[in-house]
Amino acid sequence: MGEFELIARFFERPVRRSPLGVGDDCALLQPALGMQLAVSTDLLVEGRHFLSTVDPQRLGHKALAVNLSDLAACGAQPLAFTLSLALPHVEEAWLAGFAQGLFALADAHGCELVGGDTTRGPLAINVTVFGEVPAGQALLRSGARPGDDVWVSGSLGDARLALEAFRGTVSLPQEVFEAARQRLERPEPRVALGLALRGIASAAIDVSDGLAGDLGHVLRRSGVGATLALASAPQLLAAARSGLQLAPQMVEQLVFAGGDDYELAFTAPASARDAVQSAAQRTATPVTQVGRIEAAPGLRLLDAAGQPIARSFGGFDHFGAS
Ligand code: ADP
Ligand code: MG
Repeated sequence: MGEFELIARFFERPVRRSPLGVGDDCALLQPALGMQLAVSTDLLVEGRHFLSTVDPQRLGHKALAVNLSDLAACGAQPLAFTLSLALPHVEEAWLAGFAQGLFALADAHGCELVGGDTTRGPLAINVTVFGEVPAGQALLRSGARPGDDVWVSGSLGDARLALEAFRGTVSLPQEVFEAARQRLERPEPRVALGLALRGIASAAIDVSDGLAGDLGHVLRRSGVGATLALASAPQLLAAARSGLQLAPQMVEQLVFAGGDDYELAFTAPASARDAVQSAAQRTATPVTQVGRIEAAPGLRLLDAAGQPIARSFGGFDHFGAS
């Protein structure tokens, strides 16, 4: 099967909302009047971002999910995406599974594939998403203010727990492993919550590299600091809630520096607590308040007794030491 047959067979589908999709030199997008285009891109490389053995359907889902998560963090409504693929060889069953996982999530969010590029090479997947947001209303990293609450959606740390199980550093009961693996391989982007938080959250980011590191980006961009309560860790790790016994330091490490969570971390004034809770309820997304924004720069951590502790959780850095 040649390049063009491959595209036609697996990735060319009629577009509904975009004026022009796959097949020409450019795709055409038509954001509604008064809307700004929100654009984000993520590159997934085999061995670096996913295991070679991962189910292709889950990989198709995740390649788009991690991008939709960025739109969610900006409060943008997904419109369209492009897909660039480097493939070592054409394996039809693999491509069919990949496309199935990809399009199932795309359809669930009304986000259509409008173009891409396909080449032979070591397996790598690049998705670029386009979303729309009313002009001036995008949620940014730079809006956190002293006194704001720090919130996170859903649960944190379970994806990293699954990765550790794959690496053999922890052993998990089968059900716990399957649930954690689902979080690692099939994250659900918090698009509905992101949209509901427009006009409520003062700043937002999606947690892809660990809460401490990603919140650090918000703090630096906003010129503020924060204190986080470590005591909230066991309630944030789904595996701990379901009864798994782990050393407290490990739970803290997973929750604050795990990575691959694709939850939203956001800030909002204390006066908006009811509005946050109602946005969470309307979108059926659990949220937990985990800390407070302060004027003094840096991230401070409090233990269960409310005492400051000296520990640091670095975020993941592809060119860093670890
Ligand atoms: P060009 O020569 O302009 O790069 P290509 O021959 O690479 O165009 O691609 C032909 C068409 O197929 C273009 O519209 C392109 O956007 C689309 N396309 C290529 N690869 C993919 C893919 N993996 N998924 C979706 N569309 C693709
Ligand atoms: Mg091309």
